[in-house]
Amino acid sequence: MGRAFVYVILGGGVAAGYAALEFSRRQVAPGELCIISEESVAPYERPALSKGYLLPENPARLPQFHTCVGANEERLTTKWYREKGIELILGTRVKSADLKKKELLTSSGETITYNYLIIATGARALKLEEFGVRGSEAENVCYLRDIADADRMVNIMQSCAGKNAVVIGGGYIGMECTAALVTNKIKVTMVFPEKHCMARLFTAKMAEFYENYYKARGVKFVKGNVLTSFENDPFGKVTAVILRDGTRIPADMVVVGIGIRANTTLFDGLEKGGAKLALEKGGIKVNGRMQTSDGSVYAVGDVAAFPVKLFGNDIRRLEHVDSARKTARHAVSAIMAPDETGDLDYLPFFYSRVFALSWQFYGDNVGEAVHFGDFPNGRFGVYWVNEGCIIGAFLEGGAKEEYEAISKVVKTRAKVSNVGELEKLGSGFALRESQKLVESTGTGRIASAGTGTGTRSIMEKPLYKWHATAGVAAAASIAVFAYWYGVRRRRW
Ligand SMILES: Cc1cc2nc3c(=O)[nH]c(=O)nc-3n(C[C@H](O)[C@H](O)[C@H](O)COP(=O)(O)OP(=O)(O)OC[C@H]3O[C@@H](n4cnc5c(N)ncnc54)[C@H](O)[C@@H]3O)c2cc1C
Repeated sequence: MGRAFVYVILGGGVAAGYAALEFSRRQVAPGELCIISEESVAPYERPALSKGYLLPENPARLPQFHTCVGANEERLTTKWYREKGIELILGTRVKSADLKKKELLTSSGETITYNYLIIATGARALKLEEFGVRGSEAENVCYLRDIADADRMVNIMQSCAGKNAVVIGGGYIGMECTAALVTNKIKVTMVFPEKHCMARLFTAKMAEFYENYYKARGVKFVKGNVLTSFENDPFGKVTAVILRDGTRIPADMVVVGIGIRANTTLFDGLEKGGAKLALEKGGIKVNGRMQTSDGSVYAVGDVAAFPVKLFGNDIRRLEHVDSARKTARHAVSAIMAPDETGDLDYLPFFYSRVFALSWQFYGDNVGEAVHFGDFPNGRFGVYWVNEGCIIGAFLEGGAKEEYEAISKVVKTRAKVSNVGELEKLGSGFALRESQKLVESTGTGRIASAGTGTGTRSIMEKPLYKWHATAGVAAAASIAVFAYWYGVRRRRW
């Protein structure tokens, strides 16, 4: 049994949804495109799972957050795919790939052939067992990667109100899940090996603000320590976690957020006769057009390792939703309009929202960290300055125009002659420099990104319709905006 398509997207997550929209805009003909996904629902905005989905009141539920609402675009429901003649093959795992025959074999035994393949298999949550700790299968241990995980976590949280949770891991999944648990009236202890939370991005000073904010909401932190085993009741349910130094923490539920691994196994050539593509940085290596070492195969999103122009074409594998959206669109553009599509010029961008807080980060966090703003009141930021240029910027509680301004100074690598002045001016520096750009270019717009066709601005961010409305409020009052933004954005 088999079917043939011109274009096949392998994986049905964020990147798949944005690729489908781009295909549709580029007039893909009915019957030419299919998406094969292990998940049983059409592509959705995955970040919603650790935010709006876990709220105790008015939680976000599908079909509300199907792609591409996160970028303020059309919401692609199953009806949309049907109307466009795009085949959704859901609840179906691809077991193997034959790149020579341009064939995929699915778990249902079907063979799907393609002319062009886009690999969008994303990543999976790392399991405790990969670190030598057993017990992931216990009924009250949660991971959070897909909607099935989120449903499970919601059920467990509902039986744990007023009880104790232990969160393993201090990255963004750990931080966002902890906020959700607290909102669900569950007492949380966070355990992680680093000296402070979000160690890959935050400086000690940034982390201090967030940890204090969490502590004020009852969260306990156990740092520089790791989980070594669980204590279980006779039915296998976890009752406590045991740490390396012997500390025992009672637990009614455990949430594990210890990182992810890109889903490359179909293409790493490790299985006898398996397909083999070039890999780098734990992902599938692509060029600036998202093309792999096989000319008919593209890779996008979390699974792709691509050259970032801004970092001197250093190959990076990014695990962020904005990158998934833009690499997906770019690959489609490269396939359908090869003559118009150059190399992706991407500005790395990441955001998070917890409680009423909200931050955005652009670029890279290497070099000297220059902190600015009002830390006690949660209106602060950091610039990373390397060789006299700004190469990264972070802002908490900013207004729309401030976020746009910091992204511009990173993208243009604004020169810094006086670090003291930068610290004093804070986001005012970015606003001033971006105003200069407006005056010199007439629009302030800089190199296009995402499609490489010059049609989309690098400044695009995952804004919802009401977020755009918020921009107006921001002009009137930054403080009012910051509050509103935090409260509203937390839903998704
Ligand atoms: C809970 C959570 C919160 C997040 N919050 C943020 C945030 O606030 N900000 C941010 O920037 N990023 C966030 N992210 C990261 C962001 O969601 C990812 O970067 C993004 O989803 C990557 O998109 P993708 O399409 O590459 O992969 P995914 O969205 O993971 O999709 C991969 C798809 O491929 C399917 N698949 C894999 N292997 C196969 C196979 N063999 N056969 C068939 N199907 C297969 C999977 O089932 C899945 O449908 C969050 C992630 C999670 C899990």
